[in-house]
Amino acid sequence: MTNSNKKPSREFEKLKLGEHLCGIYRNKEEQFSKIMSTKGEVRGVVFQTDAQYIRAHKGESGLNAVEEEIKKMGYTIDYDKIRAMKWYPIGLRPLSLLAAKKALDWNTPQIVDMGRSAPKYSLITKLILKYFASLKKVAEKAPMYWRKHWSTGSLDPGEVHEDEKYLILRLRDFKVHPILCTYLTGYYLGVGEMTMGGKNQTAKEVKCMHRGDEYHEFIVRWE
Ligand SMILES: [Zn+2]
Repeated sequence: MTNSNKKPSREFEKLKLGEHLCGIYRNKEEQFSKIMSTKGEVRGVVFQTDAQYIRAHKGESGLNAVEEEIKKMGYTIDYDKIRAMKWYPIGLRPLSLLAAKKALDWNTPQIVDMGRSAPKYSLITKLILKYFASLKKVAEKAPMYWRKHWSTGSLDPGEVHEDEKYLILRLRDFKVHPILCTYLTGYYLGVGEMTMGGKNQTAKEVKCMHRGDEYHEFIVRWE
């Protein structure tokens, strides 16, 4: 593994929660068919998690609006018919988030918050976090956990720097859509909060394949 002892870059320090180096989603330029042609699959549970968050914040009508938005994109996600352990085309994952953003007029921090809330909604995640308890154990299991949800890409074991109070996660061979980087930034923040009690934690993506880096690198810090 390269850069294993490298400290977080200065770029990281300058970013605020929810900001993303890849920039923001530009709806009009989105090429949905290109997104949908991405090879790979994702477990249905991620869509159920999206639906739970959308319902909690915008009710049934909010979820219907998202489903309609996906239809406008030329695809279908029927959130109630999704099965948790079934594999679905990976392109639907960003589409679900992009549709929520568009239909509900959500901004990037809201997508971060969606990710951040996700570990709380997932029974599997809760069990894993409870079972492994310590951050070090959770970090070790990160690659296995990734494979349970995604058929493509790989997550390195998390690198825990206890003394300096940060965790590094590196995601490789995964180039689907930058909105997933935004979502995952929130997700890792949520996992950190559930594992360590959630005191003044922050998460940032400091490297990203969508802007030419070799891998995506997320840093979760705590106090
Ligand atoms: Zn990225």
